Amino acid sequence: MDDAQFTLRTLLISFLPLFMNAQATANFIDAVPARPGTQSYSWSEPTTIMIFIPSGLTGADRMNFEMGINSVASMLPKITVQFKNGEPPAGTTNYVDVDIKPMETDPGGFGGGFVPDPFPSGMDHVNITEGFIEISGGSLGHSAVAPTFMKNLGAHEFGHVLGLDDDPRSSGMRMNVMDPDFNLIDDGMGTVIRADPFVGLSKRDKMMLSSHYMISVPEPSTWILASLGFVSLLLVNRKQISCRRALSTDQM
Ligand SMILES: [Zn+2]
Repeated sequence: MDDAQFTLRTLLISFLPLFMNAQATANFIDAVPARPGTQSYSWSEPTTIMIFIPSGLTGADRMNFEMGINSVASMLPKITVQFKNGEPPAGTTNYVDVDIKPMETDPGGFGGGFVPDPFPSGMDHVNITEGFIEISGGSLGHSAVAPTFMKNLGAHEFGHVLGLDDDPRSSGMRMNVMDPDFNLIDDGMGTVIRADPFVGLSKRDKMMLSSHYMISVPEPSTWILASLGFVSLLLVNRKQISCRRALSTDQM
């Protein structure tokens, strides 16, 4: 390797983390688009976020919605979620208010986010203490035909609650939680529900979250256990193969 090559590689390696970081921060909702860079919001860590579920969200809808939120929260070791019933009492902090808009019939009428505190000039980051998720009445009651709908909805809107922006894909299957295209199809007569596969946090989602949150990675001990399990599976397989061979030999 000559000197020029070496320098180029060193530069590429040292620039890579910068690019990754820039991309990750860019996917948090930009609080002040007019200012250069991204001024973002996120919850401080560690935080317990209380999620207040309205009485109108029940049964399978509620279960799937909470499962979607848990699929994201379970990857954030410093963020704990607690589900509560009803409306947040006055004076509550660190909460998400889930509301149902019963008069809205469009199943696509849902959204989530956070209540932004004023963004002081000269600051690039502000902590979130209050989030919200709004669900239209038309989004409810589809869990029997589209069980993944409320689950994808919970995961995606909780992503917004955490400060993430939408991250639309350019082609192919939906792979990322923050891809806003899920569960809805325009049939030309109004939007209808579709049962997309459930999508949990992807590598890309995690990379974005990691600019403000600690992300779970499998412990080394988990890998050792997993590989031990794999080796023993191989041994069992080999054993079964040799047994079968012995058996077929016997039968001949
Ligand atoms: Zn979205």
